Formats: sequence, structure tokens, C-alpha cells
Amino acid sequence: MADKYEQVLELAKRRGFLWNSFELYGGTAGFFDYGPLGAMLKRRVENIWRDIFVINEGYYEIEVPTIGIEDIFVASGHVGGFSDPLTECQKCHEAFRADHLVKDIIENPDTLSAEELTALMDKNNVKCPECGGKLGNAYEFNLMFKTSIGPGGKRMGYLRPETAQGMFVDFPRLLKFYRDHLPFGATQIGKAYRNEISPRQGVIRLREFTQAEAEIFIDPGNKTHPKFKDVADIVMNLYSQKGQASGETKNMSLGEAVKNGIIAHEFLAYCLAMTHKFLIRVGVSPEKMRFRQHMKDEMAHYAADCWDAEILSERFGWVEVVGIADRTDFDLKAHAKQSQKELSVYVAYDSPKKVQKFVVKPDMGLLGPMFKGKAKKVADALKALKSEELSGDVIEVTVDGEKININKNSVKFETITEEIHGENIIPHVIEPSFGIDRVTYSLLEHSYFEEEAKEKIEDEESAELRIVLRLPPEVAPVQAAVLPLLSRDELIKPGMEIVNKIRKAGILVAFDDSGTIGRRYRRNDEIGTPYSITIDYQTLEDKTVTIRDRDTMKQVRAPISDIENNVYDLIYRRKSFEDAGI
Ligand code: AMP
Repeated sequence: MADKYEQVLELAKRRGFLWNSFELYGGTAGFFDYGPLGAMLKRRVENIWRDIFVINEGYYEIEVPTIGIEDIFVASGHVGGFSDPLTECQKCHEAFRADHLVKDIIENPDTLSAEELTALMDKNNVKCPECGGKLGNAYEFNLMFKTSIGPGGKRMGYLRPETAQGMFVDFPRLLKFYRDHLPFGATQIGKAYRNEISPRQGVIRLREFTQAEAEIFIDPGNKTHPKFKDVADIVMNLYSQKGQASGETKNMSLGEAVKNGIIAHEFLAYCLAMTHKFLIRVGVSPEKMRFRQHMKDEMAHYAADCWDAEILSERFGWVEVVGIADRTDFDLKAHAKQSQKELSVYVAYDSPKKVQKFVVKPDMGLLGPMFKGKAKKVADALKALKSEELSGDVIEVTVDGEKININKNSVKFETITEEIHGENIIPHVIEPSFGIDRVTYSLLEHSYFEEEAKEKIEDEESAELRIVLRLPPEVAPVQAAVLPLLSRDELIKPGMEIVNKIRKAGILVAFDDSGTIGRRYRRNDEIGTPYSITIDYQTLEDKTVTIRDRDTMKQVRAPISDIENNVYDLIYRRKSFEDAGI
């Protein structure tokens, strides 16, 4: 019997959600096309993400090129270290992730070096899973797609492996946009590219995929969140470092998790809450979702804390769909070093602070005539000295490579008390990073149901079986279907008028008049259309139609006059028939 993944993909292919890319030419692993319904579904998922992060949190969206210049990825560490260990079969030449081949032998194989993996494979006599051939030594394979910019191949570029770097590189511009105030955030929804070694997990591991990322720049001295109290009572399934040691997840409120030091701080916990809200709103089952903390040896060395939102899939087990990390000041420091620009923010203190300061005052009356045109450079060199360098009778400075001795009488120095009102700091970054394709696949899997049909359909082979996608109405690609009971002009005409009314309200509505009404309901159930509107002979008499709910299959009569507002309320305000007054 087909497993859930096969069932979902069969439906997804047949009804235009997901297709293998380049099918005409035989296809290539790691690429998927979104068909007409899939593209719309994905867009709706992205728009919900925008609603939460951009509209409600105020983290404006930016858009930068998907090709990045080499400097960016040298700074970010991707050129040096964004790799997976590869081993190739010496017989059939198939490539494999070496860490995946030993995952049943050792617990955290991704912490091992290529040499350690090679030794482990040799010791355990690991062979090629395809042909049983001997495997070559494992080596690090960089996952970035390399390209050159402009003719002649002089300038190197890379397809970005994540959208995040665009926000770091634009930091000085963003800081001005947000009028020099922390915290602020920028977001991006766009393509990322990773040349995965052997993507055998279908839609889960792609070589081109869509990320939705927020980079939130915060004051390292204040990791509280002004709206944390609104989410502190939310109970989530947390799989903490401690929990993983004993294999136990715990339902815990975010308030409690922060108080007990399980989640590092409020800001990070708030991002977990937003992620939770998003995943549930798009249709992920809450009972198939957990938040797993990275173990110490798995966490990036610079990260202060990191949690993955994981979703349970029947075939793939727990799959990471979102990573939420406190990346500290790592990225800004790295780009400041590479670009030689200062990437910091001036933060004013609540009240001024008094500090002791050592100042050097060169006597220009003496230095001027002595050094003439060079006097200013000499004075600047003196000012840069520390107190211990000024202790002798003769002070040495270097100007333009020349060593110069100066008598101590030409310089005065003292320690003064100064009042300062603030300082330049490097913000820390909190990053929720979403894989939109994994989310989209997960919600398809979680909303896919096969059930015994209650409505009977004549002359239909699989009449006993009803496939239904229980997608949340605001996510369903087709939001309403208008179905004339019979394909006759007197019913088609009012049907088309209703279609036009509903379209004007911004709702995607399909018109379908072919086949029996039962078959048409079934067709709409399996693509997740939440409401079907049927025009019958009573419509011609009293100007009412029936609206059928996909999940309950309940039907109510509603007036045509207000149909677009009623459908809007059902979809976007999540009203029931009763609440919508129909
Ligand atoms: P990462 O930067 O590796 O933490 O990735 C952030 C998110 O992007 C992950 O949580 C995934 O949802 C998604 N992602 C990463 N790699 C892939 C891939 N090869 N295919 C699809 N989604 C991916």
C-alpha cells in the first residue's frame, strides 16, 4: 500500500500542486515545480508569513539579488565551511553523504570530520548502498553553486545559500531607515540554492528552495521583548537539550521555559511563539509539531541558543522546517572585518555615566617650529600613546615609518573625568529562518485525509473513497467553487454572475459545470476548496444558493445579494455559517 508521501505526491502531481522539474527531459533530483494550485498555495503560505512578520511585527521586507559576490560569502564563512562530507562509490560512482551512511552506527555523525567518517566507514565495512561497491575517502564538498559575474570569468559569485546575508550587508542602510533605533528587523522571502550531494528525500531536500527569513537586530544588553507577556502563557511541545538526553518532550508555557533558563531569553521565546502561530495558521497539526533545542555540539560556535521547529512526517520522521537562533554579533562583526566598515549602533544610556579618561596634550608651540609640516602627524602619534609609553624622559613615536624621539617637556598628559551619554555597540541578531517548501509539503501531508464517502456518486470507480484536503480556508488555492446543478444556460448564467461578484471581493473562485454534482464536490474536496456554491432551480425563484462546507459537508441556503461578503467572512474571519448569519 502506498504510504502517505506517495498518496500526497500522487494527488499533488495529478491535480497540479507539485511536478518534477524538467520532466520532459527526464528530470533531475532536488528540483520541483509548483503547478497552478501549488504555486497559489505556496503564495498564500508566504502571505500569511508576511502578515505575521511584516505587517504585525513591522519587520519590513527587502529584496536583494540571489547572486552574491565572493566577499559576502567569505565573510559569512560559507566559502570556507559550508560543506557536507561526500563519499563516492568507486564502482558505480554514485555520490553519498558520508554522515548519512553511518547514522545507524553513531549518534551525531554530523559532528565528525571527513577523516573521522572515513575511518568509521572503513572500520564498519560500510559499502555503497546502491551496488555494494567500495566507497572512496570522505571529503568536504562545498554546497554553494559557483558562478562568474561578467565576461571573462574574472569576478567570482555564488548563488546565495540563504537569504540572510542580504539583510546583514544592508545593515547600514537599514539602520538609517529605522532611524538609528534598536530593535529593528528586516525580512526576505526568496530563493536559496544549495548543491545538495544526493537529495533522495523528494520535496524535503531541494537544490533550489524558498526561504522566509527575518534578521532582527537587538541590543545585546536587553534581550527582553515588549510583547512577551502576550505569549508567555502559550504552551508548546519543547524538546530541550535536557529532554533529548532522556528522550522526553515536555509541554511547557513559554513563560516557564524562560524563567527556568530552558529558552535563553524572552526575545528568542517570542520568535518561537510567532513560529508556532504561523505553523498552526497555515495548517500544520499542532500534535505533529515540536520545538527542538540544538545540542551543544550541534550549535554553531557563535550561537547563544538555537531551536528548530520540527514537523512529523510519516515517511521522513521529524523534519526541521524552521531554525530560530540567537546569532549574537557574529555576522555583523564578520562583515565589518571583511568590508573594513564599522557596523555598529550608537545607544544612548538612560542616564549619563562618568568615566576616567587618559588624555595626551602635545605642546604645539614647541612641536610646530620643530617639525613644521610634520607637526600634526607627530602630535597625532603622541595622542595615540598609552600612559605607560609616556613614562620615560624621551618618548618615541613613528611617523611615516620614521622613528622620532621627543623630549617629555613637549607633551603634557593627565587623567580627566568625562561624562558620556552613550556608546557604539554591535547589535545581536535573532534569526527565525523558515523553509517554505518544507512547510508547504508538511501542511499538504497533515491535511490529507482519505475517508469513506458519505455522499454517493453514481458511475464513479472510487465512489466509496473521499479524498479531502482539510486546508485552512485562507490557505486553500481555490477558495470557492460555483457549481450549477445542471449544465444548462438558465443555471450557468446566474452562476457566472455569482463568480464575478465573488472575484471582485478578491476571492479565487472556480466555475465547474462538467459531470455530476457529486463528482464535482469530490474534485473540489481533493484540492481543498473549502466552500462549494450550488445554483439550482430554487435559485431562479428566490435568489438563494446553497453553500456546502468541505469538512462537515453541511449545506445551507444563502442569499445571492450578500454572497461575496458571506464567503469572505467564512474564509478570512473564520466564521461559522451561524456566525456569518447564513
Ligand atoms: P538552515 O540555514 O540550514 O538552518 O535552513 C533554514 C531552513 O531552510 C530549514 O529549516 C529548512 O526548512 C530550509 N532548508 C534548508 N535546506 C533545505 C533544502 N535543501 N531543501 C529545502 N529546504 C531547506
